[in-house]
Amino acid sequence: MFSPNIVKNMKLRIAIQKSGRLHDDSIKLLKECGIDINNGVNKLKTEASNFPLEVFFLRDDDIPQYVEDGVADIGIVGENVILEKNRPVKIAEKLGFGKCRLSLAVPKSVEYNSVKDMDKLRIATSYPVILQNFLNEHNITAEIHEISGSVEIAPGIGLADAICDLVSSGSTLFMNGLKEVEVILKSEAALISNDNLLPEQEVLLQKLLFRIQAVKKAKNNKYVLLNAPNDKLKEIIALLPGMKSPTVLPLAEEGWSSVHSVLNENAFWDIIESLKAAGAQGILVVPIEKMII
Ligand code: ATP
Ligand code: ZN
Repeated sequence: MFSPNIVKNMKLRIAIQKSGRLHDDSIKLLKECGIDINNGVNKLKTEASNFPLEVFFLRDDDIPQYVEDGVADIGIVGENVILEKNRPVKIAEKLGFGKCRLSLAVPKSVEYNSVKDMDKLRIATSYPVILQNFLNEHNITAEIHEISGSVEIAPGIGLADAICDLVSSGSTLFMNGLKEVEVILKSEAALISNDNLLPEQEVLLQKLLFRIQAVKKAKNNKYVLLNAPNDKLKEIIALLPGMKSPTVLPLAEEGWSSVHSVLNENAFWDIIESLKAAGAQGILVVPIEKMII
C-alpha cells in the first residue's frame, strides 16, 4: 500500500515528440484538455501547473521504448512508429491527428499492376519491420534497404527500385518523380501507455482519457441553431439526430420556432441541405469546445 503522501504526489509522466510533426498537436491536445504546460524551447521536461502530469520531450522513435521501460508512463506517437518498434505497450486512444499512410511507391514511368510486381526489387525504407511483415503476408521476396531519412530520393540515385515511406498529400512523391502504388498502413497519432501502471496512475490516465474523449467528440460535432416555421417542425426535427432530442424554443414571431441540435461532422453537409430544403432558415453552425455524454 502507498502512504497517503505518496498517493497525493503521484504523477503521470507523458512523453511527447520534442520537435516535428506531432509536437504542436500534442501540446494543443493537452491544452484543450485544460492542462497548462509551460513549453519552453530546448527543455527536456516540464510540469503541468494544474494536473499531476510531467511532460518529457523526446524523439518520436524512442517513445515506445521509454513507455515500455516505465521511464514515461504514457506517450503520444504515430501508430507507424508503434508498429515498427513493436514494443509491448497498450494503445489507450487514437488521437485523430498526425494522419498519414505508409505506402509503396515506384518511379512514375514504371508499369505497376499488383503487389507481385515488387518481387525481387530493392525497396528503400525507414520501416523495415512493417515492410517485411507486409511482404511476408503477400509471399514476396524483396531486398529491403533500411535508410533513416530522405527515402524518396533512393530510386533517383539508383539505390533502390521502389520505396516504402510515409505519405500525406503525396507532393513529396510527386516532386521526386514517384507514384504511390500500394497503401500498407493507415496511421494517426495515438496515446500509448505502460502495461503496468500503478492503480493511482491508472486513475490519472482515466481522468486524462475522459478529457481527451470529450475534446475529440466536440471536434467531430457542431452545434446547430436554426429557425423553422411551426408547420415544418416535425419534418425538420426528424432530420436532426441531437444528443437526446433537439431543443425547440418559440420565437417572438408567431408561428416560428428556434431549433438547437448537435450534428456530426460526417453527416453535416447532407443534413444541412435537407434542412434547408425542408424550410429551415437562419441556420447557424457553432463549434463545440467540449462534449460530455
Ligand atoms: P524525430 O526527430 O522525433 O525522430 P521524425 O523526423 O522521425 O522526428 P516527423 O517527420 O516529425 O518525425 O514525423 C512524426 C510523425 O508524424 C510520423 O511518425 C507520422 O506518424 C506523422 N506524420 C504525419 N504525416 C506525415 C508525413 N507526411 N510524413 C511523415 N510523417 C508524418
Ligand atoms: Zn523519428
